[in-house]
Amino acid sequence: MKDDRRIYEHPVLKFERGKRLSFYLDGKPMEGYENETIAAALHANGIKTLGFSPKLKRPRGFFCGIGKCSSCLMRVDGYPNERTCILPLKEGMKVEVQEGRGRAEIRGRERKGKVERRSTDFLIVGSGPAGLSAAAEATNMGFKTLLVDENPSVGGQLIKQTHRFFGSEREYAGTRGIDIPARLLGECAEKLLEIEKQASVFGFYPEGIAIEKRDRIELVEAKKVIVTTGAQENYLLFENNDLPGVYGAGGVQTLMNVYGVLPGKKALMIGSGNVGLIVAYQLLQAGVEVEALVEIMDHIGGYQVHAAKLLRQGVPILLNHTIIRALGDECVEGAVIKDIKSGEEQTLALDLICVAVGLSPSIQLLKQAGCRSAYIPELGGEVVLHDENYKTDAGIFVSGDGSAIEEASSAMIEGRIAAISAALELGEIEGAVEKRRELREELRSLRSCRRGEKILKGEEKLLEVYNER
Ligand SMILES: Cc1cc2nc3c(=O)[nH]c(=O)nc-3n(C[C@H](O)[C@H](O)[C@H](O)COP(=O)(O)OP(=O)(O)OC[C@H]3O[C@@H](n4cnc5c(N)ncnc54)[C@H](O)[C@@H]3O)c2cc1C
Repeated sequence: MKDDRRIYEHPVLKFERGKRLSFYLDGKPMEGYENETIAAALHANGIKTLGFSPKLKRPRGFFCGIGKCSSCLMRVDGYPNERTCILPLKEGMKVEVQEGRGRAEIRGRERKGKVERRSTDFLIVGSGPAGLSAAAEATNMGFKTLLVDENPSVGGQLIKQTHRFFGSEREYAGTRGIDIPARLLGECAEKLLEIEKQASVFGFYPEGIAIEKRDRIELVEAKKVIVTTGAQENYLLFENNDLPGVYGAGGVQTLMNVYGVLPGKKALMIGSGNVGLIVAYQLLQAGVEVEALVEIMDHIGGYQVHAAKLLRQGVPILLNHTIIRALGDECVEGAVIKDIKSGEEQTLALDLICVAVGLSPSIQLLKQAGCRSAYIPELGGEVVLHDENYKTDAGIFVSGDGSAIEEASSAMIEGRIAAISAALELGEIEGAVEKRRELREELRSLRSCRRGEKILKGEEKLLEVYNER
């Protein structure tokens, strides 16, 4: 496939694309690879518009890349509203751009939802660092564990982090994010662990916990449940912010670091937190030009070491600047940025706007289960209430970015604390109370820096609200 938008040379990554496949977009033949999702294959073929908004019929493109927003919904083999950013490509697939809310034509088709039942000791929802660490603890304490993730790979955000992690050494700081999932899986007692990928947990019902797979629904009975569903990226308000080509920074990482597909040729990064700084550098590594990084504050939000790498490559970091408009009709062709002090505006020609303005915990599933929530800005916005063992008032445990936006090191420790606490409710376990005490100590020391102060303040507020019953 000459002239496509795939990355063939990368300083860190090697892409195993698998077999070449044929598929159709609105009847037009296209080619992709078996290890790509539909949205990645479409991007590689130069297709950025994946649908149109239901009311105003505005073009819609990819945004989050992990199945958490609705920007990439398409009709696939006749089924409407498929999340094409997490649905792997198959030979002969018929993909269609859908208008409106999507219509199902199921007459004469086999029913998609056969219901099956299963049971387990622990059900862990989400296989990021929190979920994997919880699975390591649960299986090593002798519990049969089902680990479910709706993405095609295990590892959550880690699978796209090519940089060496900061954080605590015991939680693999200094190791590249992409290498951490295998290390955590290696910690699990293999015989007791079952992993289900491409499976979404969508509800807690009296009959069981419902998991949707492509061809069936499963109802799971579990003695203990830990929800580690991570976070979703925040949007930013500016004119034309819905044009295809305006992507979340994590979405951009998914395209380029997981699937080896270029998200664009010339980029503007918005936000100078660690995510913005790191993803801007990774864009350069993938061969994308970064025109500038804009930051509305008067200082850089992330670590100086990440900012210095960008400055050395000649990328301007414009403080006191923001985006006010994306330009283009069908997709991004430029951006207007503004100096908020002088009021001066500047027009940039580019095809990619990358939004890195923070994350919010993904708590929808926990709210469906009846957990109470509160707005605590220090923890990332609306969070579910839980006690110091990460137990919510619905009896479900939570940890990682799904409980508060922090980092992988703390997500791993929290996942372990949650698993041990859940296990202790099932009976005594030798050494478990002591291990939990040590983990709490480790978490405290991880948060003893300036960045940790905010989280500690947030946790204090959360416990206060939790105890006000
Ligand atoms: C660019 C970038 C750089 C970073 N760098 C660092 C760093 O250097 N050091 C560091 O410590 N941290 C870093 N982080 C932060 C770190 O990656 C996150 O804090 C961490 O991944 C959170 O872990 P988690 O397990 O809570 O969630 P995630 O890693 O987000 O995993 C959640 C998982 O849950 C799955 N899921 C969600 N909903 C469902 C459902 N309903 N059913 C089934 N599965 C579901 C998702 O598919 C996903 O796999 C970085 C993050 C980014 C974006």
